[in-house]
Amino acid sequence: MAERIRVRFAPSPTGKVHIGNIRAAIFNWLFARHVGGAFLLRVEDTDLERSTPEAIRALLDCMRWLRLDWDGEILYQTSQRAHHLEVAEDLLRRGLAYRENKGGQGECVIFRMPREGVIEFDDLVKGHMKKQAKDTQDFVIVRSDGSPVFHLANVLDDVTQGVTHIIRGDDHVENTFKHIMLFRAIGAPVPRYAHLPMIVNNGGKPYSKRDGSAFVGEFRELGFVPDALFNYLALLGWAPGDDREVMSRAEMVEAFDFAKCKASPARFDIKKLTWMNGEYIAREPRGEFEAAFDARLRAAGLPTEPLNGHRGALLDEIQPRTKTYGDVPGNCRWFFAEDYPFDGKAVAKRLHAEGAAETLEAAAGALEALPDFTAAAAEGAVRGLAEARGVGLGALVHPIRVAVSGRMEGPGLFEMLWLLGQGRAVGRLRAVAAKLREGAL
Ligand code: GLU
Repeated sequence: MAERIRVRFAPSPTGKVHIGNIRAAIFNWLFARHVGGAFLLRVEDTDLERSTPEAIRALLDCMRWLRLDWDGEILYQTSQRAHHLEVAEDLLRRGLAYRENKGGQGECVIFRMPREGVIEFDDLVKGHMKKQAKDTQDFVIVRSDGSPVFHLANVLDDVTQGVTHIIRGDDHVENTFKHIMLFRAIGAPVPRYAHLPMIVNNGGKPYSKRDGSAFVGEFRELGFVPDALFNYLALLGWAPGDDREVMSRAEMVEAFDFAKCKASPARFDIKKLTWMNGEYIAREPRGEFEAAFDARLRAAGLPTEPLNGHRGALLDEIQPRTKTYGDVPGNCRWFFAEDYPFDGKAVAKRLHAEGAAETLEAAAGALEALPDFTAAAAEGAVRGLAEARGVGLGALVHPIRVAVSGRMEGPGLFEMLWLLGQGRAVGRLRAVAAKLREGAL
């Protein structure tokens, strides 16, 4: 029987969870689920000064939010400390490591790298990789304070935990040449490696918090949904090889293949992620949408019942247009509160035009005269007014929209007017016209 594949996500919990890190978790998870292997979670808390319980909690929270379920118990690296030190002693005894006094701080244990030959491996993503041994240097495996260093702990845990494939970021390639020699020194088989391409910004530099949101928690707060973030990050370095982009978990698991992973850097594109998030939101069952939608309204101090009722019809309009839940209060406030902000650009473009106040007043009159206020009736009234004045429909539609909502985007105007209700729509048009005349807008 073929050996069971075991992979691990091995984050160092030293701060917020970066998308690059979680992308590594996603690739490990997809590969494990694709091959029916095990996906382990190892918390690399060896760096005692920088690891914090809050960071561990945040990490687990992220994993659960993204439904990155791991197999077995959480493995904490510090629990293996005695073993790490024992192996270091053994390497010393066998002459594969030596002690050295570094800067008078006490003795470190240093691993001896070969002086000749090449160190090479076949990376599942990057292909054949090699380095001349003479270009490598010996490195510390136990610090002078007696604590094991990342390289030693990482490799030994991979051995103990039977890890067969190491899937991690590109930034670890240099470490891999060191680690291969450690595996050999210990007499353990060298796992397969897959180094994932760097995530870069528009300028091709590593994507960082200076470029925009970079931590999973931030995306969550902005109202990205976990499945969309997962889907988008899965496509940073991998593509199924056909046109599919929005894919279910099951589809991704089924299609995942290192042969289709790219070695070139993957550009982080917030517009694409936002588009994808909108696709996910549009497909959510109504109940799920409502729960998230209402939570955002409440957090902004707004009621969940629209001023004019018709909540179901309103949600029909809003759900397919929502790109992130964070946008909800800003986009929809005017349906739920009498006061609503005016977008400066929209006002400048649509309301600071010659005769805008008079146009709004005329529209108010035409809408007020309707005996039966439906979207179709509102449309008829506005069209009739445009014809009577010999102007295009846009000359009325745009200023009316900005006047009643403060914005240029939103549902179709006539639906909007109906949702708002006759009295309120007419009242807003007149109030804005008055403000324009006073120069107060
Ligand atoms: N703790 C290391 C990191 O977060 C682990 C790298 C690895 O996957 O081996 O970068």
